[in-house]
Amino acid sequence: MHHFSYHGSALHCEDVDLAGVARLYGTPTYVYSATTIADNVTRLQRSFRELDVQVCYAMKANSSLALLRHFANLGTSFDLVSGGEIRRVLAAGSEVKASVFAGVGKSEAEIELALKNEVFSFHVESEPELARINYVAGRLGVKAPIAIRINPNVDAKTHAKITTGKSDNKFGIPLAVAASAYEAASKLPHIRVAGIQMHIGSQLTTIGPFTEAVKKVVPVVAQLQADYGLEYFSIGGGIGIIYEDALASGDQAWWDAFPAAERPITPEAYGAALTPLLKDLGLKIMLEPGRFLVGNAGVMLSRVEYLKRGAQKNFLVIDAAMNDLARPAMYDAYHEVVPLQRDTSRAAMTADIVGPICESGDCFAKDREIQSVGEGELVAFMSAGAYGYTMSSRYNTRGTAAEVLVQGSSFELINARETFEQMIANEKIPAFLA
Ligand SMILES: *Cc1c(COP(=O)(O)O)cnc(C)c1O
Repeated sequence: MHHFSYHGSALHCEDVDLAGVARLYGTPTYVYSATTIADNVTRLQRSFRELDVQVCYAMKANSSLALLRHFANLGTSFDLVSGGEIRRVLAAGSEVKASVFAGVGKSEAEIELALKNEVFSFHVESEPELARINYVAGRLGVKAPIAIRINPNVDAKTHAKITTGKSDNKFGIPLAVAASAYEAASKLPHIRVAGIQMHIGSQLTTIGPFTEAVKKVVPVVAQLQADYGLEYFSIGGGIGIIYEDALASGDQAWWDAFPAAERPITPEAYGAALTPLLKDLGLKIMLEPGRFLVGNAGVMLSRVEYLKRGAQKNFLVIDAAMNDLARPAMYDAYHEVVPLQRDTSRAAMTADIVGPICESGDCFAKDREIQSVGEGELVAFMSAGAYGYTMSSRYNTRGTAAEVLVQGSSFELINARETFEQMIANEKIPAFLA
């Protein structure tokens, strides 16, 4: 569900005409729907209403300051993966006292920053990391709350680059050594055992792997709770969103047309499947969704530069590129592309949709059938709110895109397009070349 739809022939985000946004701020531009984000948070919270649940938004999906403030207002905390993300939350006027700090490579400086800002808990990925947290906490004269990330060795059946719960990837420790790891942790003087964590992967479109993983881990959680008095169990993020039929999925009717057993994952089904498995633990349950909360709440707007008609193929060359939206090049990801001005009288065309970057990998879609569009016309990439702007780069000396937030009929620029001067601001020519 989301709030992107055609009003007449013009694609809108909530009550705002997206073509108007593109005219004002240029392209490529990301546009986010505040109401869609609020709906997603509310639906997830309601789906777990029988439990004491805390939603920690995995902000690596989209860490724009405006969105962080919106999330804080909605009562979520954050799943943090770097010192930079901690500082972003503070810069957004919020705090990290209910947030968790994850990631396999926390530096001493990052651990110190998290401790000084009283982070709720560290999600620990290895024994050397635990030793380092103990050391830094000792130096500061505090006790660090921790949870150890358990790898349940479940196949999330998602893309290889975003699956994390199998024993052959770098995340967490095996279930079989959880007991000894917690025993070791409990003996460290500056560590307080607070919880347990797992996260099996991203963009899961079925519930099976989630229930399988929770069922595997729950007996261990119960034992650890008995031994060490845990406060919480974090079951991670990973709820998938709709990419292929993204525009249509804004409508409840699209979801209702599926028989329940075949419906793509919804927060309601996720909550209903997991609540009975978690209820008897009596623990606070932490959720760490990233993509689900923001993915379908954002689009990327782009303008057609050229329609290049080739002997074999048409190429729709647009002004957005892999530096703006890396997912297709990086994960072979699919994004639906729709015209901002719908014209059903026009014939469809088939084209490769490509950016201007000097690499064949700068391709958003191959042999895509879309409404015919030509030079100067505008298109939107659906489901671009997660892992879109945050993964962008300056490859080919292209500044990062602008970002706009919509709520109802209001909209505001929340991040201006990067200028050339900003791009080169930290660079200098060394004296020996002068
Ligand atoms: C990336 C990540 C998440 C969020 O994943 P989504 O698929 O965006 O929900 C949650 N927890 C951890 C530990 C992560 O690394």
